[in-house]
Amino acid sequence: MEKAEKKLHRLKSNQLLRDLCSETSFSLSHFVQPIFINEGINDNEEIIGLKNNFVMSLDNSFKQIDDDLNNGVKNFLLFISPKKKSVSSFNLDFHQRAISSIKDRFMNDINLWTDVCLCSLTDHGHCCLFNEDQSIDIDRTLKEISKIALSYAQAGSDIIAPSDMMDGRTLSIRKILDKEEFSMKPIVSYSTKFSSNFYGPFREAASSAPSFGDRKQYQLDYRSESEAIRASLRCAEEGADMLMVKPGMTSIDLIMKIREKTNLMVGSYQVSGEYAGMCLSEEKGLLDLNEALKETWHVMRRAGAQYIISYGARLAKEIGF
Ligand SMILES: [Zn+2]
Repeated sequence: MEKAEKKLHRLKSNQLLRDLCSETSFSLSHFVQPIFINEGINDNEEIIGLKNNFVMSLDNSFKQIDDDLNNGVKNFLLFISPKKKSVSSFNLDFHQRAISSIKDRFMNDINLWTDVCLCSLTDHGHCCLFNEDQSIDIDRTLKEISKIALSYAQAGSDIIAPSDMMDGRTLSIRKILDKEEFSMKPIVSYSTKFSSNFYGPFREAASSAPSFGDRKQYQLDYRSESEAIRASLRCAEEGADMLMVKPGMTSIDLIMKIREKTNLMVGSYQVSGEYAGMCLSEEKGLLDLNEALKETWHVMRRAGAQYIISYGARLAKEIGF
């Protein structure tokens, strides 16, 4: 035993040797940076707890993406909030303008992912439409979600990322994209998404907090493993090109299992509450944000995450990736 420990100490004796022996490594190209655009604001608005992240106007997003590109970020996950919410028949003019103007400007220097969901569009803030008895109207929901996905593809989004967790949505989106000649447009499904306490800052930023009830009837119970894996399997069977688990740290045990069962790329979303927890701890002098980010990213990578979505992606270069 002592021998083995000594060996470990020897292998850790200098930085270059430690780097050489590291079993997980990755680069800036594995990161995805979320961007929040809101039609109703003219400037940048801070998001409580999310240091270095803002809700911004479309114009300001150009400068932000430009800065991020200079910091080595090439993948962006776009969340767009319109000025007006409604019950149905959603107006996507602003969404289309936002996506097409970003793509016109940055072309193929960036890979633009667009989050597809109803929660930032509906006046009740839920990811679905309801019947009169408050049960989920799945047919109408899938129809609307697929229409939204198609409009984002038409506007130039590189990747379609449905986050609603409705059964059948990946298949429904795949069908409409194929039919409308977007068969090469990849779908990254939020496939194992738990109902979580860690989404607070995001809901403020995307103005998508539900006005009644919660999302437990369509998001996953964090106590369940088999249900969580099945949800990803379903997305894979329905035609998802890549999968995602969220929140990041509370899902790390599932990444390899999902990879092995699906043979698809599985990424990890370090969600707003996780990031904010580290930012606020740093504010109180309890940790170093950059070091904590580095640690959590490496742990996700060690657990098998093939890409990482994080509010700190724009810091990754400064941190040393
Ligand atoms: Zn949603």
